[in-house]
Amino acid sequence: MMNFDPADNIQDLQFFGEFGGVNPSISDSSTYTFLSAKTMFDTFEGNAEGCYLYSRHSSPSNLYLDRAMAAMEGTESANVAASGMGAITPTLLQLCGNGDHVVSSRTIYGGTYAFLKNFAPRMGISTAFVDITNLEIVEKAITKNTKVLYCETVSNPLLEVADIAGLSKIAKRHNLTLVVDNTFSPLSVSPIKLGADIVIHSLTKYINGSSDTVGGVTCASNEFIASLKCVNSGASMLLGPTMDSMRSASVMKNLRTLHLRIKQHSHNANYLAERFEKDGLKTVYPGLASHPSHELYKGMINPEYGFGGMMTIDAGSLEKANELMELMQEKNLGYLAVSLGFYKTLFSAPGSSTSSEIPADEQAAMGLSDGLIRFSIGLDNDIERTYQMMKQCMMEVGVLHKEDFATI
Ligand SMILES: *Cc1c(COP(=O)(O)O)cnc(C)c1O
Repeated sequence: MMNFDPADNIQDLQFFGEFGGVNPSISDSSTYTFLSAKTMFDTFEGNAEGCYLYSRHSSPSNLYLDRAMAAMEGTESANVAASGMGAITPTLLQLCGNGDHVVSSRTIYGGTYAFLKNFAPRMGISTAFVDITNLEIVEKAITKNTKVLYCETVSNPLLEVADIAGLSKIAKRHNLTLVVDNTFSPLSVSPIKLGADIVIHSLTKYINGSSDTVGGVTCASNEFIASLKCVNSGASMLLGPTMDSMRSASVMKNLRTLHLRIKQHSHNANYLAERFEKDGLKTVYPGLASHPSHELYKGMINPEYGFGGMMTIDAGSLEKANELMELMQEKNLGYLAVSLGFYKTLFSAPGSSTSSEIPADEQAAMGLSDGLIRFSIGLDNDIERTYQMMKQCMMEVGVLHKEDFATI
Protein backbone atom coordinates (compact mmCIF):
# COMPACT_ATOMS: atom_id res chain seq x y z
CA MET A 1 0.00 0.00 0.00
CA MET A 2 2.96 2.36 -0.58
CA ASN A 3 1.90 5.68 -2.14
CA PHE A 4 -1.74 4.66 -2.07
CA ASP A 5 -3.80 7.41 -3.65
CA PRO A 6 -7.45 6.48 -4.03
CA ALA A 7 -8.14 9.03 -6.78
CA ASP A 8 -5.12 7.92 -8.85
CA ASN A 9 -6.31 4.35 -8.53
CA ILE A 10 -9.67 5.31 -10.03
CA GLN A 11 -8.05 7.46 -12.73
CA ASP A 12 -5.83 4.59 -13.84
CA LEU A 13 -8.85 2.47 -14.76
CA GLN A 14 -9.67 2.58 -18.48
CA PHE A 15 -13.04 1.26 -19.62
CA PHE A 16 -13.85 1.64 -23.31
CA GLY A 17 -17.23 1.25 -24.97
CA GLU A 18 -18.08 -1.44 -27.46
CA PHE A 19 -17.20 0.84 -30.41
CA GLY A 20 -14.24 2.56 -28.85
CA GLY A 21 -16.42 4.97 -26.91
CA VAL A 22 -14.71 6.95 -24.16
CA ASN A 23 -17.33 5.65 -21.73
CA PRO A 24 -18.07 1.96 -21.35
CA SER A 25 -21.24 0.70 -23.04
CA ILE A 26 -24.26 0.34 -20.78
CA SER A 27 -25.43 -3.24 -20.55
CA ASP A 28 -29.15 -3.31 -21.21
CA SER A 29 -29.98 -6.94 -20.52
CA SER A 30 -31.32 -8.91 -17.60
CA THR A 31 -30.22 -12.27 -19.04
CA TYR A 32 -27.35 -13.53 -21.23
CA THR A 33 -27.07 -16.17 -23.93
CA PHE A 34 -24.62 -19.06 -23.82
CA LEU A 35 -23.09 -20.80 -26.82
CA SER A 36 -23.02 -24.09 -24.96
CA ALA A 37 -25.11 -25.59 -22.19
CA LYS A 38 -21.95 -26.62 -20.35
CA THR A 39 -20.85 -22.96 -20.00
CA MET A 40 -24.24 -22.07 -18.55
CA PHE A 41 -23.83 -24.75 -15.87
CA ASP A 42 -20.29 -23.61 -15.04
CA THR A 43 -21.46 -20.00 -14.77
CA PHE A 44 -24.19 -21.02 -12.33
CA GLU A 45 -21.57 -22.73 -10.22
CA GLY A 46 -19.43 -19.59 -10.32
CA ASN A 47 -16.66 -21.24 -12.36
CA ALA A 48 -16.81 -19.27 -15.61
CA GLU A 49 -14.81 -16.07 -15.27
CA GLY A 50 -16.04 -13.31 -17.57
CA CYS A 51 -19.41 -14.92 -18.27
CA TYR A 52 -22.66 -13.30 -17.19
CA LEU A 53 -25.71 -15.22 -16.10
CA TYR A 54 -28.42 -12.92 -14.85
CA SER A 55 -28.22 -9.25 -13.88
CA ARG A 56 -29.31 -9.73 -10.26
CA HIS A 57 -25.98 -11.55 -9.87
CA SER A 58 -23.80 -9.20 -11.94
CA SER A 59 -23.88 -7.12 -15.08
CA PRO A 60 -21.00 -5.63 -17.09
CA SER A 61 -21.97 -2.06 -16.07
CA ASN A 62 -22.11 -2.97 -12.39
CA LEU A 63 -18.74 -4.71 -12.63
CA TYR A 64 -17.10 -1.52 -13.95
CA LEU A 65 -18.35 0.39 -10.92
CA ASP A 66 -17.41 -2.53 -8.63
CA ARG A 67 -13.85 -2.37 -9.95
CA ALA A 68 -13.64 1.39 -9.54
CA MET A 69 -14.91 1.24 -5.95
CA ALA A 70 -12.52 -1.60 -5.11
CA ALA A 71 -9.67 0.46 -6.60
CA MET A 72 -10.68 3.48 -4.55
CA GLU A 73 -10.83 1.55 -1.27
CA GLY A 74 -7.90 -0.77 -1.97
CA THR A 75 -9.89 -4.01 -1.71
CA GLU A 76 -9.77 -7.04 -4.01
CA SER A 77 -13.40 -6.70 -4.98
CA ALA A 78 -16.68 -4.85 -4.45
CA ASN A 79 -20.40 -5.25 -5.00
CA VAL A 80 -22.69 -2.32 -5.78
CA ALA A 81 -26.26 -2.27 -4.50
CA ALA A 82 -29.48 -0.38 -5.11
CA SER A 83 -28.99 1.78 -1.99
CA GLY A 84 -26.66 2.23 0.95
CA MET A 85 -29.03 0.19 3.11
CA GLY A 86 -29.05 -2.40 0.29
CA ALA A 87 -25.30 -2.77 0.87
CA ILE A 88 -25.33 -2.57 4.68
CA THR A 89 -28.08 -5.07 5.50
CA PRO A 90 -26.89 -7.97 3.28
CA THR A 91 -23.32 -7.44 4.52
CA LEU A 92 -24.40 -7.74 8.16
CA LEU A 93 -26.72 -10.68 7.43
CA GLN A 94 -23.91 -12.46 5.57
CA LEU A 95 -21.59 -12.03 8.55
CA CYS A 96 -24.11 -12.82 11.31
CA GLY A 97 -26.74 -15.47 11.92
CA ASN A 98 -28.96 -16.66 14.74
CA GLY A 99 -27.20 -16.22 18.10
CA ASP A 100 -24.51 -13.86 16.82
CA HIS A 101 -23.70 -10.49 18.30
CA VAL A 102 -22.58 -7.13 16.91
CA VAL A 103 -20.72 -4.35 18.72
CA SER A 104 -21.68 -1.09 17.02
CA SER A 105 -21.09 2.58 17.48
CA ARG A 106 -24.19 4.21 18.96
CA THR A 107 -23.83 7.24 16.69
CA ILE A 108 -24.57 5.69 13.30
CA TYR A 109 -26.94 6.44 10.45
CA GLY A 110 -30.56 6.22 11.67
CA GLY A 111 -31.51 3.46 9.23
CA THR A 112 -28.57 1.27 10.23
CA TYR A 113 -29.38 1.88 13.89
CA ALA A 114 -33.04 0.92 13.34
CA PHE A 115 -32.00 -2.22 11.44
CA LEU A 116 -29.66 -3.42 14.19
CA LYS A 117 -31.95 -2.41 17.04
CA ASN A 118 -35.40 -3.40 15.72
CA PHE A 119 -35.02 -5.73 12.76
CA ALA A 120 -31.90 -7.89 13.24
CA PRO A 121 -33.21 -9.30 16.58
CA ARG A 122 -35.95 -11.03 14.55
CA MET A 123 -33.12 -13.09 13.06
CA GLY A 124 -31.58 -13.72 16.47
CA ILE A 125 -28.84 -11.12 15.98
CA SER A 126 -28.27 -8.81 18.95
CA THR A 127 -26.27 -5.60 19.14
CA ALA A 128 -24.47 -3.67 21.86
CA PHE A 129 -24.39 0.06 21.05
CA VAL A 130 -21.31 1.75 22.50
CA ASP A 131 -19.38 5.01 22.55
CA ILE A 132 -17.00 4.15 19.69
CA THR A 133 -14.48 6.80 20.76
CA ASN A 134 -13.77 4.86 23.97
CA LEU A 135 -11.78 1.75 22.97
CA GLU A 136 -11.93 0.31 26.48
CA ILE A 137 -15.74 0.36 26.44
CA VAL A 138 -15.73 -1.13 22.93
CA GLU A 139 -13.56 -4.06 24.00
CA LYS A 140 -15.61 -4.67 27.16
CA ALA A 141 -18.81 -5.00 25.09
CA ILE A 142 -17.41 -7.97 23.13
CA THR A 143 -18.92 -11.35 24.06
CA LYS A 144 -18.06 -14.89 22.95
CA ASN A 145 -20.80 -14.54 20.30
CA THR A 146 -19.57 -11.25 18.82
CA LYS A 147 -18.80 -11.50 15.10
CA VAL A 148 -18.76 -7.90 13.88
CA LEU A 149 -17.40 -4.55 15.01
CA TYR A 150 -19.36 -1.82 13.18
CA CYS A 151 -18.75 1.91 12.90
CA GLU A 152 -18.79 4.96 10.63
CA THR A 153 -15.46 6.73 9.99
CA VAL A 154 -17.10 10.06 10.76
CA SER A 155 -20.45 9.60 12.41
CA ASN A 156 -23.80 11.00 11.50
CA PRO A 157 -24.73 13.58 12.73
CA LEU A 158 -22.29 14.31 15.54
CA LEU A 159 -19.11 13.95 13.46
CA GLU A 160 -17.41 11.70 15.99
CA VAL A 161 -14.31 10.06 14.57
CA ALA A 162 -13.70 6.32 14.92
CA ASP A 163 -10.08 5.33 15.59
CA ILE A 164 -10.06 2.70 12.84
CA ALA A 165 -6.49 1.55 13.55
CA GLY A 166 -7.29 1.11 17.26
CA LEU A 167 -10.57 -0.69 16.50
CA SER A 168 -8.75 -2.93 14.02
CA LYS A 169 -6.36 -4.09 16.76
CA ILE A 170 -9.34 -5.00 18.95
CA ALA A 171 -11.06 -6.77 16.06
CA LYS A 172 -7.96 -8.84 15.30
CA ARG A 173 -7.49 -9.75 18.98
CA HIS A 174 -11.06 -11.12 19.15
CA ASN A 175 -11.28 -12.49 15.62
CA LEU A 176 -14.03 -10.05 14.58
CA THR A 177 -14.76 -8.49 11.20
CA LEU A 178 -14.35 -4.70 11.31
CA VAL A 179 -16.98 -3.11 9.04
CA VAL A 180 -16.62 0.62 8.37
CA ASP A 181 -19.24 2.85 6.73
CA ASN A 182 -17.09 5.48 4.97
CA THR A 183 -19.97 7.47 3.41
CA PHE A 184 -18.97 10.82 4.99
CA SER A 185 -15.30 10.60 4.02
CA PRO A 186 -14.62 9.08 0.58
CA LEU A 187 -11.01 9.68 -0.60
CA SER A 188 -10.25 11.55 2.65
CA VAL A 189 -10.04 8.30 4.58
CA SER A 190 -8.96 4.87 3.31
CA PRO A 191 -10.22 2.53 6.07
CA ILE A 192 -8.58 -0.62 4.64
CA LYS A 193 -5.18 1.05 4.94
CA LEU A 194 -5.97 1.61 8.62
CA GLY A 195 -6.93 -2.04 9.21
CA ALA A 196 -10.66 -2.31 8.38
CA ASP A 197 -11.87 -5.55 6.78
CA ILE A 198 -14.93 -4.31 4.89
CA VAL A 199 -15.80 -0.79 3.71
CA ILE A 200 -19.33 0.31 2.86
CA HIS A 201 -20.59 3.47 1.15
CA SER A 202 -23.94 4.98 0.46
CA LEU A 203 -23.19 6.06 -3.13
CA THR A 204 -26.23 8.35 -2.79
CA LYS A 205 -24.08 10.98 -1.09
CA TYR A 206 -20.66 12.27 -2.19
CA ILE A 207 -19.71 9.53 -4.59
CA ASN A 208 -22.62 10.10 -6.95
CA GLY A 209 -22.90 13.69 -5.79
CA SER A 210 -25.88 14.83 -7.84
CA SER A 211 -28.77 13.81 -5.54
CA ASP A 212 -30.51 12.03 -8.42
CA THR A 213 -30.34 8.42 -7.22
CA VAL A 214 -29.77 6.12 -4.27
CA GLY A 215 -26.99 3.54 -4.41
CA GLY A 216 -24.57 1.61 -2.24
CA VAL A 217 -21.45 -0.55 -2.30
CA THR A 218 -19.63 -3.13 -0.21
CA CYS A 219 -15.84 -3.25 -0.74
CA ALA A 220 -14.16 -6.41 0.54
CA SER A 221 -12.07 -9.48 -0.29
CA ASN A 222 -12.82 -11.68 -3.31
CA GLU A 223 -13.94 -14.34 -0.89
CA PHE A 224 -16.47 -12.15 0.94
CA ILE A 225 -17.90 -10.59 -2.23
CA ALA A 226 -18.28 -14.07 -3.75
CA SER A 227 -20.15 -15.16 -0.61
CA LEU A 228 -22.54 -12.16 -0.89
CA LYS A 229 -23.26 -13.07 -4.53
CA CYS A 230 -23.43 -16.86 -4.09
CA VAL A 231 -26.56 -18.23 -5.81
CA ASN A 232 -27.18 -20.68 -2.95
CA SER A 233 -26.50 -18.63 0.17
CA GLY A 234 -25.54 -15.07 -0.72
CA ALA A 235 -27.51 -12.31 1.03
CA SER A 236 -27.12 -9.87 -1.88
CA MET A 237 -28.09 -12.46 -4.49
CA LEU A 238 -31.04 -13.80 -2.47
CA LEU A 239 -32.43 -10.57 -0.99
CA GLY A 240 -31.92 -8.92 -4.38
CA PRO A 241 -31.01 -5.23 -3.77
CA THR A 242 -29.36 -5.00 -7.18
CA MET A 243 -28.38 -1.71 -8.77
CA ASP A 244 -29.71 -1.09 -12.27
CA SER A 245 -27.09 -0.93 -15.06
CA MET A 246 -28.26 2.47 -16.27
CA ARG A 247 -27.68 3.84 -12.80
CA SER A 248 -24.30 2.27 -12.25
CA ALA A 249 -23.18 3.79 -15.57
CA SER A 250 -24.27 7.26 -14.44
CA VAL A 251 -22.69 6.89 -10.97
CA MET A 252 -19.47 5.78 -12.70
CA LYS A 253 -19.37 9.02 -14.73
CA ASN A 254 -19.93 11.16 -11.63
CA LEU A 255 -17.20 9.25 -9.79
CA ARG A 256 -14.69 10.65 -12.30
CA THR A 257 -14.91 14.11 -10.68
CA LEU A 258 -15.11 12.99 -7.04
CA HIS A 259 -11.57 14.16 -6.18
CA LEU A 260 -12.30 17.72 -7.36
CA ARG A 261 -15.60 17.86 -5.55
CA ILE A 262 -14.24 16.52 -2.25
CA LYS A 263 -11.43 19.10 -2.25
CA GLN A 264 -13.94 21.92 -2.80
CA HIS A 265 -16.43 20.59 -0.23
CA SER A 266 -13.60 20.34 2.33
CA HIS A 267 -12.23 23.78 1.52
CA ASN A 268 -15.65 25.43 1.84
CA ALA A 269 -16.66 23.61 5.04
CA ASN A 270 -13.32 24.36 6.67
CA TYR A 271 -13.67 28.05 5.74
CA LEU A 272 -17.17 28.38 7.20
CA ALA A 273 -16.40 26.31 10.33
CA GLU A 274 -13.38 28.48 11.18
CA ARG A 275 -15.36 31.68 10.79
CA PHE A 276 -18.49 30.55 12.60
CA GLU A 277 -16.40 29.31 15.52
CA LYS A 278 -14.59 32.66 15.66
CA ASP A 279 -17.99 34.40 15.67
CA GLY A 280 -18.83 32.49 18.84
CA LEU A 281 -21.13 29.80 17.43
CA LYS A 282 -20.89 26.28 18.83
CA THR A 283 -19.42 24.65 15.72
CA VAL A 284 -18.42 21.04 15.22
CA TYR A 285 -16.03 20.25 12.36
CA PRO A 286 -13.22 17.67 12.48
CA GLY A 287 -10.85 20.21 10.90
CA LEU A 288 -11.14 22.55 13.90
CA ALA A 289 -8.52 22.21 16.64
CA SER A 290 -11.43 22.30 19.12
CA HIS A 291 -12.85 19.02 17.77
CA PRO A 292 -12.14 16.26 20.34
CA SER A 293 -10.71 13.98 17.65
CA HIS A 294 -8.94 16.62 15.55
CA GLU A 295 -5.42 15.24 16.10
CA LEU A 296 -6.53 11.64 15.59
CA TYR A 297 -8.38 12.52 12.38
CA LYS A 298 -5.46 14.57 11.07
CA GLY A 299 -3.35 11.43 11.26
CA MET A 300 -5.99 9.32 9.52
CA ILE A 301 -6.79 11.38 6.42
CA ASN A 302 -5.16 11.53 3.02
CA PRO A 303 -4.38 15.24 3.58
CA GLU A 304 -5.03 16.62 0.09
CA TYR A 305 -8.74 15.73 0.41
CA GLY A 306 -9.18 17.55 3.70
CA PHE A 307 -11.55 17.10 6.61
CA GLY A 308 -14.72 16.73 4.55
CA GLY A 309 -17.81 18.79 3.83
CA MET A 310 -19.93 18.07 6.91
CA MET A 311 -20.25 20.42 9.86
CA THR A 312 -22.80 21.21 12.56
CA ILE A 313 -23.72 24.35 14.43
CA ASP A 314 -25.97 24.72 17.45
CA ALA A 315 -28.71 27.32 16.94
CA GLY A 316 -29.80 27.05 20.58
CA SER A 317 -33.29 25.66 20.07
CA LEU A 318 -35.32 23.79 17.47
CA GLU A 319 -37.39 26.94 16.81
CA LYS A 320 -34.30 29.03 16.07
CA ALA A 321 -32.83 26.23 13.97
CA ASN A 322 -36.01 26.00 11.88
CA GLU A 323 -36.25 29.76 11.49
CA LEU A 324 -32.63 29.98 10.36
CA MET A 325 -32.92 27.10 7.91
CA GLU A 326 -36.06 28.56 6.34
CA LEU A 327 -34.40 31.95 5.95
CA MET A 328 -31.22 30.48 4.44
CA GLN A 329 -33.36 28.57 1.96
CA GLU A 330 -35.28 31.73 1.08
CA LYS A 331 -31.94 33.48 0.38
CA ASN A 332 -30.94 30.56 -1.87
CA LEU A 333 -27.97 29.64 0.35
CA GLY A 334 -28.99 26.01 0.31
CA TYR A 335 -31.91 23.66 0.66
CA LEU A 336 -33.72 22.42 3.73
CA ALA A 337 -33.25 18.77 2.91
CA VAL A 338 -31.76 15.59 4.34
CA SER A 339 -28.88 13.79 2.63
CA LEU A 340 -25.46 15.17 1.73
CA GLY A 341 -22.80 15.51 -0.92
CA PHE A 342 -24.81 17.71 -3.33
CA TYR A 343 -23.36 20.73 -5.21
CA LYS A 344 -25.76 22.86 -3.19
CA THR A 345 -25.52 23.23 0.58
CA LEU A 346 -28.09 21.06 2.36
CA PHE A 347 -29.19 21.54 5.95
CA SER A 348 -31.49 19.78 8.37
CA ALA A 349 -32.11 19.40 12.09
CA PRO A 350 -31.07 15.77 12.72
CA GLY A 351 -33.03 15.38 15.97
CA SER A 352 -36.30 15.71 14.09
CA SER A 353 -35.23 14.11 10.79
CA THR A 354 -32.40 11.68 9.99
CA SER A 355 -31.83 10.63 13.60
CA SER A 356 -35.51 10.56 14.61
CA GLU A 357 -35.29 6.74 14.80
CA ILE A 358 -33.15 7.30 17.91
CA PRO A 359 -35.35 7.84 21.02
CA ALA A 360 -35.23 11.32 22.64
CA ASP A 361 -33.47 10.17 25.82
CA GLU A 362 -30.78 8.38 23.82
CA GLN A 363 -30.37 11.48 21.63
CA ALA A 364 -29.76 13.55 24.74
CA ALA A 365 -27.28 10.99 26.14
CA MET A 366 -25.17 11.16 22.98
CA GLY A 367 -25.15 14.97 22.87
CA LEU A 368 -27.61 15.43 20.03
CA SER A 369 -29.20 18.75 21.01
CA ASP A 370 -32.52 20.15 19.72
CA GLY A 371 -30.97 23.18 18.05
CA LEU A 372 -28.35 21.20 16.14
CA ILE A 373 -28.20 21.95 12.41
CA ARG A 374 -26.28 19.57 10.19
CA PHE A 375 -24.76 21.15 7.10
CA SER A 376 -23.50 19.43 4.01
CA ILE A 377 -21.54 22.33 2.56
CA GLY A 378 -21.85 22.73 -1.19
CA LEU A 379 -19.45 23.58 -3.99
CA ASP A 380 -19.98 27.38 -3.79
CA ASN A 381 -17.38 29.23 -5.86
CA ASP A 382 -17.10 32.27 -3.57
CA ILE A 383 -17.33 30.95 -0.04
CA GLU A 384 -16.61 34.34 1.59
CA ARG A 385 -19.77 35.68 -0.07
CA THR A 386 -21.70 32.67 1.26
CA TYR A 387 -20.28 33.28 4.74
CA GLN A 388 -21.37 36.92 4.74
CA MET A 389 -24.88 36.00 3.60
CA MET A 390 -25.19 33.19 6.18
CA LYS A 391 -23.98 35.52 8.92
CA GLN A 392 -26.64 38.03 7.90
CA CYS A 393 -29.32 35.33 8.23
CA MET A 394 -27.97 34.31 11.64
CA MET A 395 -28.20 37.89 12.88
CA GLU A 396 -31.68 38.30 11.48
CA VAL A 397 -33.02 35.32 13.46
CA GLY A 398 -30.93 36.13 16.54
CA VAL A 399 -28.57 33.14 16.44
CA LEU A 400 -25.74 35.69 16.24
CA HIS A 401 -25.91 39.22 17.60
CA LYS A 402 -24.57 42.41 16.09
CA GLU A 403 -22.66 43.30 19.25
CA ASP A 404 -20.64 40.05 18.87
CA PHE A 405 -18.72 41.61 16.00
CA ALA A 406 -16.23 44.40 15.76
CA THR A 407 -16.97 44.82 12.08
CA ILE A 408 -19.85 43.64 9.97
C1 LIG B 1 -27.43 7.81 3.76
C2 LIG B 1 -26.57 6.91 4.56
C3 LIG B 1 -26.78 5.53 4.59
C4 LIG B 1 -27.91 4.87 3.85
O1 LIG B 1 -27.79 4.99 2.47
P1 LIG B 1 -29.03 4.99 1.43
O2 LIG B 1 -28.36 5.16 0.12
O3 LIG B 1 -29.92 6.12 1.82
O4 LIG B 1 -29.70 3.68 1.60
C5 LIG B 1 -25.92 4.76 5.33
N1 LIG B 1 -24.91 5.30 6.04
C6 LIG B 1 -24.69 6.62 6.05
C7 LIG B 1 -23.55 7.15 6.85
C8 LIG B 1 -25.50 7.48 5.32
O5 LIG B 1 -25.28 8.79 5.36
